Amino acid sequence: ARIVGASAEGDDQAVEAALRPKDLSEFVGQEKVRQQLDLVLKAARQRGATADHVLLSGAPGLGKTTLSMIIAAEMNAPIRITSGPAIQHAGDLAAILSSLQEGEILFLDEIHRMSRPAEEMLYMAMEDFRVDVIVGKGPGATAIPLELPPFTLVGATTRAGLLPPPLRDRFGFTGHMEFYDPAELQRVIHRSAGLLDVEIDPAGAAEIAGRSRGTPRIANRLLRRVRDYAQVRADGVITREIAEAALSVYEVDGRGLDRLDRAVLEALLKLFGGGPVGLSTLAVAVGEERETVEEVAEPFLVREGLLARTPRGRVATPAAWAHLGLVPPQAAGP
Ligand code: ATP
Repeated sequence: ARIVGASAEGDDQAVEAALRPKDLSEFVGQEKVRQQLDLVLKAARQRGATADHVLLSGAPGLGKTTLSMIIAAEMNAPIRITSGPAIQHAGDLAAILSSLQEGEILFLDEIHRMSRPAEEMLYMAMEDFRVDVIVGKGPGATAIPLELPPFTLVGATTRAGLLPPPLRDRFGFTGHMEFYDPAELQRVIHRSAGLLDVEIDPAGAAEIAGRSRGTPRIANRLLRRVRDYAQVRADGVITREIAEAALSVYEVDGRGLDRLDRAVLEALLKLFGGGPVGLSTLAVAVGEERETVEEVAEPFLVREGLLARTPRGRVATPAAWAHLGLVPPQAAGP
């Protein structure tokens, strides 16, 4: 797992859970989604009804699971957590749905990765709180209708566009989660430092925030690594210098690029004069698989405006040259 990876792979789940905000007021940033959700939930509570189904879209680590738990807390309802890939058969989904309590929140992560038959069962469950359980096979198969208690589905997906329209349309509310700006990440870091009982000054928090790729999960992870360094090599207090020194040990640079990101940029600049160069050639040059370069390194480089994907190949932007402290060939004098 990469230290700047957005997925929870390799993270200590207990620590992640301990750092989770418990209610909307503790949840940093995402003003729009927070405000919209606050209205949806308050209105449902006033009516004494179950909240509409909610779809949360956004990159990994931005707080979709956290928000679903907050929805449950705000609705004073239990929550069941599962994911699209965990539901292989429609029967798996039927078992979950039929065991829900009234008002329960069902969190379905990676909802776009559910199997087709399960998805179709979900349409009916969302709309009519009913499923048809198929018993038997072939011509003798019969559908037994099963009433479900009203529940709220909270679906999470990296992109709402990945969902088939009939599924997307059955959500009463869709919240789009954005990347966090450095000031918001700084607030996340201060909050987490408080919970971890670590002393950190504003410059130290700003340094970590700037390297966290707009993602609270990464901010929390970098904070934990910087804390180790501060404890072992210094007096435990996180300052800018400590954060810089710690993160250089982990090869995370000032902009949040790691070794792989920099290797890709460096090859593009030094070996291919900034491009355009084909993806396969670039991958060979850095000794990685094509997919690794394309799916692991490039998205962040593109987002940061350091690399562009063009029909003729990958091209470095002027910001890429500046970031690595190199001079583009045409600008180099005689
Ligand atoms: P994935 O899609 O990979 O499951 P996610 O979007 O569900 O990711 P979460 O697991 O909710 O992300 O959040 C990751 C970590 O980031 C949590 O431990 C939580 O503490 C922290 N976090 C996320 N959003 C916020 C926020 N708005 N304020 C404070 N901390 C946050």
